[in-house]
Amino acid sequence: MTFDYDLFVIGGGSGGVRAARVASGDWGAKVGLAEESRMGGTCVIRGCVPKKLMVFASGFPALFEEARAYGWQAEAGAFDWPVFRTRLEAELDRLEAAYRNTLKTAGVTVHDTRAVIVDPHRVRLATGEEFTTKHILVATGGRPFVPEFPGSELAVTSNEMFHLPALPKRALVVGGGYIAGEFACILNGLGVKVHQYYRGAQILRGFDDEVRGHVANTMREEGINIHLGTSVTLLERTAGGIRVVGSDGSEREVDLVLYATGRRPNSAGLGLEALGLELGRSGEIPVDRYSQTAVPSIFAVGDVTGRINLTPVAIREGHAFADTVFGAKPTAFDHQLVASAVFTQPELGSVGLSEEAAREQEPIEVYATAFRPMKTAFAGKPDRVLMKLIVSQATRRVLGCHIVAPEAGEMIQLAAIAIRMGATKEDFDATCAVHPTMSEELVTMRKPVRSA
Ligand code: NDP
Repeated sequence: MTFDYDLFVIGGGSGGVRAARVASGDWGAKVGLAEESRMGGTCVIRGCVPKKLMVFASGFPALFEEARAYGWQAEAGAFDWPVFRTRLEAELDRLEAAYRNTLKTAGVTVHDTRAVIVDPHRVRLATGEEFTTKHILVATGGRPFVPEFPGSELAVTSNEMFHLPALPKRALVVGGGYIAGEFACILNGLGVKVHQYYRGAQILRGFDDEVRGHVANTMREEGINIHLGTSVTLLERTAGGIRVVGSDGSEREVDLVLYATGRRPNSAGLGLEALGLELGRSGEIPVDRYSQTAVPSIFAVGDVTGRINLTPVAIREGHAFADTVFGAKPTAFDHQLVASAVFTQPELGSVGLSEEAAREQEPIEVYATAFRPMKTAFAGKPDRVLMKLIVSQATRRVLGCHIVAPEAGEMIQLAAIAIRMGATKEDFDATCAVHPTMSEELVTMRKPVRSA
């Protein structure tokens, strides 16, 4: 049987674009791709990229303050949100065009509309057009989830944060994960009065406990009011803003409420259930290590599969899928030891096991140091950097590395290479320090602070 396409990709985000480009450009497959929104997906259009630019923008007041300590006559002045937002939008337009160009160069046919699956070898576009295809890749990503409660419609999500008509003066951020922490810090850095409500005992659940405490304490020192064990019970529009009633009985008025309470896979209405595919509890599409679903011609990569929701993971899954199916190179992405960074201020970089998870697994040694880094200490700031290594007592391998520091994301990327290669504590020790840096502490921690 001949098909219109060898591969039809639904979703033009990180995973879908990579899979389409490799299948077509590298392996010569005839590929179609449908995207109902802007090309580039969450990461480029409403996630990592604009977020990081906002992180940069929010870091300047602290830099001006430091500059004065270094002898510069520098004043931050006022932040012009519309100027920044206009430049941000132009940058996203540029990136979207670059993504489109990449697909065009690779020979992928782009359909700017929604597509659904009709049967294992057929997709239908919102325009009514139908195409037959040998394989289908679902790479539709995820979307923010806001729980339902009285007034929940007054909350915004990360999607809206990049398009605000004006910066709020007072904001409430709800949640304790990546997005809540990052936006609490961004808004605080931009001069917004920030409260953060988290329902649990400490923010950043899943990360190393000591690291979580260190980040939370520093965020508090920077002026963010973190309320633990606290949820919102009611939001109500008032003449001056939004009235927030908390589960602790507190009431406050803010101008903006941001809910960052997790994301859900975009799997509904794609026609998957009709094919007999059983979705996970949150709607994630179950796949095997080659990203293949229970319907052999249908594959899924990225956030819609709910494995690890990170752009580089979706890219690797998409690439591995294309190599496997079209390049005759069976490749399964290894989800072990994926490093990540949370772009809070201070930044957190992490790879491998937390102290708590490692302790459950085997006897360990913990090496940790906290210190005031040279640059901000000179400026009289109290900021402290934290470096932590978790080491297996039996094999001496470094099982986890956790860094809270300026540019921790950059540092953890490099540490992750060594740890993935199986580096032992002695390999770290045998590596000569680069001086004077913060990361030299990673190779100079001689004595464990505890064993467990
Ligand atoms: P996370 O899963 O990281 O955090 C969700 C937070 O919301 C948790 O603190 C959770 O609490 C809380 N929560 C969940 N449901 C409710 C509820 N009903 N009421 C109150 N609180 C609730 O999700 P994010 O939205 O922050 O980010 C989604 C994913 O995107 C991340 O997990 C990450 O994989 C990715 N991401 C990565 C970034 C990076 O690499 N820098 C940046 C941004 C996102 P609890 O802990 O109790 O479950």
